[in-house]
Amino acid sequence: MKTYDAKNNQSCKLCGYKISHNKQGWFTLHLKNDHNLSLEEYLLRYYYLPEDLKCSYELCQNTVGLYRGKPKKHCSSKCSGLSKGKPLTCVICGIKFDTTTRSNRATKTCSKTCAKTLKSAKIKEWHKSMNLEEKEKHFEKIITKTARTKKK
Ligand SMILES: [Zn+2]
Ligand SMILES: [Zn+2]
Ligand SMILES: [Zn+2]
Repeated sequence: MKTYDAKNNQSCKLCGYKISHNKQGWFTLHLKNDHNLSLEEYLLRYYYLPEDLKCSYELCQNTVGLYRGKPKKHCSSKCSGLSKGKPLTCVICGIKFDTTTRSNRATKTCSKTCAKTLKSAKIKEWHKSMNLEEKEKHFEKIITKTARTKKK
């Protein structure tokens, strides 16, 4: 991304108007007079690409504003705070999520649906292990029975 600099050559993307710099604000004046745009509006709409203006927090889809003609890193102070903590990955569906959607950071799932899936998966596993134990017990009984019958 080429960030906007008032000291560089200015070339209007709307009409091709050229001026060597914008230090005295002549380019800004041109935008205002000819296109009825503020410099910031012009930069946001025509100068920067959509990806230049994406909030740098991984999970945020918002666009950022400008500070002195340069895109800010984050769309909000909330995002700059959130970006300090890494997003979590859902153990069920693999989607990334954070504490804005799930308040408990210890949670392993992105949503209630996934939490349910995880819970039922755990129950299934527990059932499986229980069944195995039961089977073993059952099997033991059979063995002792057959042993007894053999004795007889
Ligand atoms: Zn122009
Ligand atoms: Zn953001
Ligand atoms: Zn999930």
